[in-house]
Order: sequence, then C-alpha cells, then structure tokens
Amino acid sequence: MRHILVEITCRGCAYHTHVKSHTLVKPQLEPTLKERILQGTMFTYECPRCHSIVSFIHSFLYHDSERRLLIAMALSDKTINTLREQLPDSQLYTVKNPQQLSEAVKAAEDRLAIESIELLKKQLKKQDNEIQEVIYHDYENQMLWFTCRYKNHEEYKAVPYTAYEQVKQKGRDR
Ligand SMILES: [Zn+2]
Repeated sequence: MRHILVEITCRGCAYHTHVKSHTLVKPQLEPTLKERILQGTMFTYECPRCHSIVSFIHSFLYHDSERRLLIAMALSDKTINTLREQLPDSQLYTVKNPQQLSEAVKAAEDRLAIESIELLKKQLKKQDNEIQEVIYHDYENQMLWFTCRYKNHEEYKAVPYTAYEQVKQKGRDR
C-alpha cells in the first residue's frame, strides 16, 4: 500500500527521525492497521530514547470497499472531489484528526451511521453546557455509549438505540 515518510522531532529530548506511515488503509486487506486506527496508535510514535509519545498527522484515506465507505483525513478538496467522482456509490466522510478518524471507523464497525452519531453528540452537548467534548465509545445492549469530557473529568453517558434510530430517521426526512 502507499506510504509517506513523516519527519518526527521528539518534544521530550529533541530526538529526530523519519518514520514510514500509511496514507491508505483498506481494512479488509489490513485488519491489523484497522486495529491500530481504532486503538489510536496509527499516528503516534514512541521515542526510543525517552519514550515520549509523538503524535503526527498527514493526508490519509480509509477505504472500506465492502461497506462502500471512505473516510478522508486532511485531504485536499480537489482529491475529495476526485474520489467522489471515481466512487459515486460510496459514502465519503471527512475527519480532521486521528481521534475523529478512530471514532468514525468505530461507528462503521458497529454498523452505525457516522452522521447520526455526530447529531447525537451535538444533542448531548446541548443538554449539558459543561461538556467540552463528546466521543463515541461503544455500542452494547441496545445502548450507545459516549465519553463526555468535562474540564477536569470524564463521564460515560448512554443513549438508547431508539434515540439513534429517531435521529437517523430525521436525517433521512430532511
Ligand atoms: Zn525523546
């Protein structure tokens, strides 16, 4: 698959190196890379000298051909338009960072619509002004679990699957 070299400078000890990183992942062919995206380790590097974790970001495409799903991170508008033209039957989502990418892949793995998850996250934020960030966590026993980040702590909040279905239906009706 395709790679790029990423320049890494450790913030802890200024160790400098280049690492090979993937710019395209096809989850059916590369299940271990999919796992790394889900675990949030795909765009990190551990410094061999001081063991600090260095995070990086670059243009990246996740292409699940079975689910006809494209998740694009930091791609140019031109590339995104080309992908839309080349794969008109696929759904294309854009994400801004590896955490959003991981969340989108998780939602897809749980067979949930990413845009409906985003709407549920907005609803949770509306219900509580103190919440700074909401992250989709898991789907279990007819409940969707979200991690809500507050200024000084985190809380898990559950949303029933029926609420997800309502949001999804509304999205369709629009
Ligand atoms: Zn270091």
